[in-house]
Amino acid sequence: MNKPLSGTENEYRIAVYPGSFDPVTLGHLDIIQRAAKQFDRLIVAVLNNTTKTPLFSVEERKALLAEVTKEMPNVEIDSFRDLLVRYMRSRHARVIIRGIRSVTDFEYELQMASTNRQLDESIETVFMMTNPKYSYLSSSIVKEIAKFDGPVHDLVPPAVEAGLKGKYKSPQSAD
Ligand code: ADP
Repeated sequence: MNKPLSGTENEYRIAVYPGSFDPVTLGHLDIIQRAAKQFDRLIVAVLNNTTKTPLFSVEERKALLAEVTKEMPNVEIDSFRDLLVRYMRSRHARVIIRGIRSVTDFEYELQMASTNRQLDESIETVFMMTNPKYSYLSSSIVKEIAKFDGPVHDLVPPAVEAGLKGKYKSPQSAD
Protein backbone atom coordinates (compact mmCIF):
# COMPACT_ATOMS: atom_id res chain seq x y z
CA MET A 1 0.00 0.00 0.00
CA ASN A 2 3.09 2.25 -0.10
CA LYS A 3 2.75 5.23 -2.37
CA PRO A 4 6.08 6.14 -4.04
CA LEU A 5 8.23 9.01 -2.76
CA SER A 6 10.09 11.14 -5.29
CA GLY A 7 13.06 12.15 -3.10
CA THR A 8 14.95 10.97 -0.07
CA GLU A 9 12.85 10.38 3.05
CA ASN A 10 14.70 13.07 5.03
CA GLU A 11 13.54 15.89 2.75
CA TYR A 12 9.97 15.15 3.71
CA ARG A 13 7.90 16.16 6.65
CA ILE A 14 6.32 12.91 7.68
CA ALA A 15 3.64 12.65 10.35
CA VAL A 16 2.04 9.59 11.88
CA TYR A 17 -1.60 9.51 12.99
CA PRO A 18 -1.79 6.45 15.26
CA GLY A 19 -4.96 4.95 16.66
CA SER A 20 -7.28 1.99 16.92
CA PHE A 21 -9.61 3.10 14.10
CA ASP A 22 -12.08 0.34 15.05
CA PRO A 23 -13.61 1.52 12.74
CA VAL A 24 -12.59 4.82 11.13
CA THR A 25 -15.27 7.51 11.61
CA LEU A 26 -15.97 10.85 9.95
CA GLY A 27 -14.24 12.43 12.97
CA HIS A 28 -11.02 10.53 12.17
CA LEU A 29 -11.41 11.29 8.47
CA ASP A 30 -11.71 15.01 9.18
CA ILE A 31 -8.41 14.90 11.12
CA ILE A 32 -6.77 12.87 8.32
CA GLN A 33 -7.85 15.40 5.66
CA ARG A 34 -6.62 18.36 7.70
CA ALA A 35 -3.33 16.75 8.77
CA ALA A 36 -2.57 15.60 5.20
CA LYS A 37 -2.61 19.26 4.14
CA GLN A 38 0.03 20.17 6.74
CA PHE A 39 2.60 17.45 5.96
CA ASP A 40 4.25 15.99 2.89
CA ARG A 41 3.20 12.54 3.96
CA LEU A 42 0.74 11.30 6.55
CA ILE A 43 0.97 7.72 7.73
CA VAL A 44 -2.24 6.54 9.37
CA ALA A 45 -1.02 3.71 11.59
CA VAL A 46 -3.37 1.16 13.11
CA LEU A 47 -2.18 0.00 16.49
CA ASN A 48 -2.13 -3.77 16.67
CA ASN A 49 -3.01 -3.93 20.34
CA THR A 50 -3.22 -7.46 21.64
CA THR A 51 -4.85 -6.42 24.93
CA LYS A 52 -8.02 -5.06 23.25
CA THR A 53 -10.62 -7.20 21.48
CA PRO A 54 -11.52 -5.20 18.39
CA LEU A 55 -14.63 -5.56 16.22
CA PHE A 56 -12.60 -5.28 13.01
CA SER A 57 -9.28 -7.09 12.51
CA VAL A 58 -6.19 -5.00 11.80
CA GLU A 59 -6.39 -6.01 8.12
CA GLU A 60 -10.07 -5.01 7.93
CA ARG A 61 -9.37 -1.66 9.60
CA LYS A 62 -6.49 -1.01 7.21
CA ALA A 63 -8.64 -1.92 4.21
CA LEU A 64 -11.41 0.49 5.34
CA LEU A 65 -8.86 3.27 5.92
CA ALA A 66 -7.31 2.61 2.49
CA GLU A 67 -10.73 2.78 0.86
CA VAL A 68 -11.73 6.08 2.50
CA THR A 69 -8.35 7.75 1.81
CA LYS A 70 -7.85 6.44 -1.73
CA GLU A 71 -8.19 9.93 -3.23
CA MET A 72 -5.51 11.35 -0.91
CA PRO A 73 -2.15 10.79 -2.62
CA ASN A 74 0.07 11.65 0.37
CA VAL A 75 -1.76 9.41 2.85
CA GLU A 76 -0.43 5.94 3.53
CA ILE A 77 -2.03 3.24 5.69
CA ASP A 78 0.10 1.02 7.87
CA SER A 79 -0.05 -0.88 11.18
CA PHE A 80 2.39 -1.37 14.02
CA ARG A 81 2.72 -3.34 17.22
CA ASP A 82 5.92 -1.77 18.53
CA LEU A 83 6.44 1.20 20.83
CA LEU A 84 5.12 4.20 18.90
CA VAL A 85 8.40 6.16 19.10
CA ARG A 86 10.35 3.20 17.77
CA TYR A 87 7.89 2.76 14.93
CA MET A 88 8.20 6.48 14.19
CA ARG A 89 11.98 6.21 13.93
CA SER A 90 11.66 3.25 11.57
CA ARG A 91 9.44 5.42 9.33
CA HIS A 92 11.65 8.56 9.59
CA ALA A 93 8.70 10.43 11.09
CA ARG A 94 9.00 13.13 13.76
CA VAL A 95 5.43 14.24 14.35
CA ILE A 96 2.58 12.39 16.02
CA ILE A 97 -0.92 13.63 15.17
CA ARG A 98 -3.68 13.18 17.73
CA GLY A 99 -7.23 14.51 17.81
CA ILE A 100 -8.77 16.22 20.83
CA ARG A 101 -12.51 16.22 21.45
CA SER A 102 -12.76 17.10 25.11
CA VAL A 103 -10.93 17.85 28.35
CA THR A 104 -11.00 14.13 29.05
CA ASP A 105 -9.19 13.46 25.75
CA PHE A 106 -6.74 16.20 26.61
CA GLU A 107 -5.77 14.72 29.97
CA TYR A 108 -5.09 11.31 28.47
CA GLU A 109 -3.33 12.75 25.43
CA LEU A 110 -1.11 14.99 27.57
CA GLN A 111 0.01 11.92 29.50
CA MET A 112 0.75 10.02 26.29
CA ALA A 113 2.57 12.97 24.69
CA SER A 114 4.67 13.49 27.81
CA THR A 115 5.55 9.80 27.89
CA ASN A 116 6.55 9.81 24.23
CA ARG A 117 8.65 12.94 24.77
CA GLN A 118 10.36 11.20 27.67
CA LEU A 119 11.16 8.26 25.38
CA ASP A 120 12.36 10.41 22.48
CA GLU A 121 12.79 14.16 22.76
CA SER A 122 13.00 14.66 19.02
CA ILE A 123 9.40 13.59 18.50
CA GLU A 124 6.65 16.20 18.68
CA THR A 125 2.96 15.55 19.27
CA VAL A 126 0.66 17.89 17.36
CA PHE A 127 -2.94 18.10 18.56
CA MET A 128 -5.73 18.92 16.21
CA MET A 129 -9.02 20.11 17.64
CA THR A 130 -12.05 18.12 16.58
CA ASN A 131 -14.38 19.57 14.02
CA PRO A 132 -17.27 20.63 16.31
CA LYS A 133 -19.61 18.59 14.09
CA TYR A 134 -17.85 15.45 15.31
CA SER A 135 -16.94 16.37 18.85
CA TYR A 136 -19.21 13.67 20.29
CA LEU A 137 -18.22 11.01 17.79
CA SER A 138 -16.19 7.93 18.66
CA SER A 139 -15.76 4.45 17.23
CA SER A 140 -17.44 3.04 20.36
CA ILE A 141 -20.55 5.19 19.87
CA VAL A 142 -20.76 4.09 16.24
CA LYS A 143 -20.49 0.41 17.21
CA GLU A 144 -23.14 0.83 19.88
CA ILE A 145 -25.60 2.34 17.39
CA ALA A 146 -24.79 -0.18 14.64
CA LYS A 147 -25.23 -3.09 17.07
CA PHE A 148 -28.87 -2.10 17.49
CA ASP A 149 -29.28 -1.49 13.76
CA GLY A 150 -29.48 2.29 14.22
CA PRO A 151 -28.52 4.82 11.50
CA VAL A 152 -24.78 5.49 11.18
CA HIS A 153 -24.64 7.10 7.71
CA ASP A 154 -23.96 10.56 9.18
CA LEU A 155 -21.16 9.20 11.35
CA VAL A 156 -19.02 6.99 9.11
CA PRO A 157 -18.08 6.76 5.42
CA PRO A 158 -20.28 4.42 3.29
CA ALA A 159 -17.65 1.65 3.19
CA VAL A 160 -17.61 1.56 6.99
CA GLU A 161 -21.41 1.55 7.15
CA ALA A 162 -21.37 -1.51 4.89
CA GLY A 163 -18.66 -3.13 7.00
CA LEU A 164 -20.69 -2.59 10.18
CA LYS A 165 -23.78 -4.11 8.54
CA GLY A 166 -21.68 -7.16 7.70
CA LYS A 167 -20.48 -7.51 11.29
CA TYR A 168 -23.91 -7.18 12.87
CA LYS A 169 -26.02 -8.96 10.26
CA SER A 170 -26.50 -12.09 12.38
CA PRO A 171 -29.87 -12.15 14.17
CA GLN A 172 -30.03 -10.19 17.47
CA SER A 173 -30.84 -12.08 20.63
CA ALA A 174 -34.55 -12.67 21.16
CA ASP A 175 -34.95 -10.92 24.55
P1 ADP B 1 -7.04 5.32 20.39
O1 ADP B 1 -7.40 3.97 20.92
O2 ADP B 1 -5.58 5.48 20.07
O3 ADP B 1 -7.59 6.49 21.17
P2 ADP B 1 -9.02 6.00 18.36
O4 ADP B 1 -9.21 5.34 17.04
O5 ADP B 1 -10.14 5.97 19.32
O6 ADP B 1 -7.71 5.32 18.94
O7 ADP B 1 -8.59 7.52 18.16
C1 ADP B 1 -7.43 7.86 17.44
C2 ADP B 1 -7.22 9.37 17.57
O8 ADP B 1 -8.28 10.05 16.92
C3 ADP B 1 -7.20 9.90 18.99
O9 ADP B 1 -6.26 10.98 19.06
C4 ADP B 1 -8.61 10.43 19.20
O10 ADP B 1 -8.65 11.46 20.17
C5 ADP B 1 -8.89 10.98 17.80
N1 ADP B 1 -10.32 11.05 17.51
C6 ADP B 1 -11.24 10.06 17.60
N2 ADP B 1 -12.46 10.51 17.27
C7 ADP B 1 -12.32 11.82 16.96
C8 ADP B 1 -13.22 12.88 16.57
N3 ADP B 1 -14.53 12.65 16.45
N4 ADP B 1 -12.72 14.11 16.37
C9 ADP B 1 -11.40 14.34 16.53
N5 ADP B 1 -10.50 13.41 16.91
C10 ADP B 1 -10.95 12.16 17.13
